[in-house]
Amino acid sequence: MLVNDTIAAIATGMGNAGVGIIRISGKNAVEVASKVFRPANEEKKIESMKSYTAAFGQVYDGDKELDEGILLLMRAPHTYTCEDVCELQCHGGMVVLRNVLAAVIKNGARLAEPGEFTKRAFLNGRIDLSQAESVMDLISAKNDFAVKSSLMQLRGDLKNQIIDMREQILYNVAFIESALDDPEHYSLDGYPQKLQTIVDKLGDNVDKLLQTFDNGRILKEGIKTVIVGKPNAGKSSLLNMFLGENRAIVTDIAGTTRDTLEEVVNINGIILNIVDTAGIRDTEDIVEKMGVDKALEFASQADLILYVIDGSVPLDDNDKQIISEIKGKNVIAIMNKNDLQTVVDKMWITCELGCDIVELSASTGDGKEKLYNLLNDKFFSGELEYNDQLYITNARHKEELMKTRESLLKVRESIDMGMEEDFFSIDLMDAYEHLGLIIGETNRDDLADKIFEEFCMGK
Ligand code: GDP
Repeated sequence: MLVNDTIAAIATGMGNAGVGIIRISGKNAVEVASKVFRPANEEKKIESMKSYTAAFGQVYDGDKELDEGILLLMRAPHTYTCEDVCELQCHGGMVVLRNVLAAVIKNGARLAEPGEFTKRAFLNGRIDLSQAESVMDLISAKNDFAVKSSLMQLRGDLKNQIIDMREQILYNVAFIESALDDPEHYSLDGYPQKLQTIVDKLGDNVDKLLQTFDNGRILKEGIKTVIVGKPNAGKSSLLNMFLGENRAIVTDIAGTTRDTLEEVVNINGIILNIVDTAGIRDTEDIVEKMGVDKALEFASQADLILYVIDGSVPLDDNDKQIISEIKGKNVIAIMNKNDLQTVVDKMWITCELGCDIVELSASTGDGKEKLYNLLNDKFFSGELEYNDQLYITNARHKEELMKTRESLLKVRESIDMGMEEDFFSIDLMDAYEHLGLIIGETNRDDLADKIFEEFCMGK
């Protein structure tokens, strides 16, 4: 399916900047650009400009000059969308950009929908669905590691693995079908054993990808963190200490809702999404005790629990309740108020929880480096080992891989039970389809529509 009209949008961020770009893509992109842009060199004709060349000139709406800037012309098919693309690099003010966009639309382009440029790259076959999704991930990446992971996916690493697995499956389905149709030329003797080895290998492959999901999700979305501790232990002070210097810039991406009770901090590249239980107390007017219960409820689903202990007073029932509930989870104990006399037995906590313990003062910030280093060690040496491995970061991909796994297991069961070969094909085809959904090799337009709806404008 090829789309024929010409689309345009502001491709750069909203706000005042030195340069802002209007992107135009489609069959008439060059014609539209030539109606609004006049090269300073009057000899120069936009229509005859070569691909990947630029011209300096003025942007006009009829006879009204809107701005001066550069026109960059890229011809199909070697462009982001595989169509003719013109980019008008103007001054970055919002009024200027809106005026230029309005002129472009008046002269034959249509306003692009969010993600429509990337959608065209997909529909025109330049990228697959997993690569298109990685563009979105790249834009919203919150740290260097997430960028690296998205780039690998954009390069097609996931696509290539999926294509490879689908080819093997299709070959075997074709073989089974041929043998059933034409038993004289294709023999199925000993085939189930061969297929068993192939299915087991495919299953291992899928499992390996699935195993990367938790780390991938953490890289992409951050570590879901909850701070627990009895009232006055210093939870808010700790959160403020984090926020003081590390508050992450969170861009709102269409389709993703930001929990208003979550604070995002970036500690040397590690993103912590901290559920602000203090905020919950304030907004819902819940009494202190419920603050602890609520925090524990969140803790049960957290990737990381920061347990704040007031080291200057003895442990009490609240602490005991917390300790019993967080035992065995991924916890860092923080012995707070170390600027005061410490009365809590550090060893006892370590033995009881079997976790790391850090002493610091949330109000002075003293000792915080030890906590930051520990976080770093914890997540990049062992528990979250970042290397050149491909990570599954997208929940949709995980879902399809799990369904692929189920279908492969059914094939395996049919082989074990000595079923007829045509039973194998049905489940093999299911696995083939689920893998296809990851890269968009499917007739389901609704799937692509749903994914591109979540993109931002101009991409
Ligand atoms: P929360 O109820 O657990 O959120 O505790 P807060 O962060 O509100 O802190 C309770 C009290 O302890 C406040 O008066 C803080 O100023 C104080 N506090 C927090 N951290 C420290 C610390 O490291 N040293 C000292 N001396 N006081 C602290």
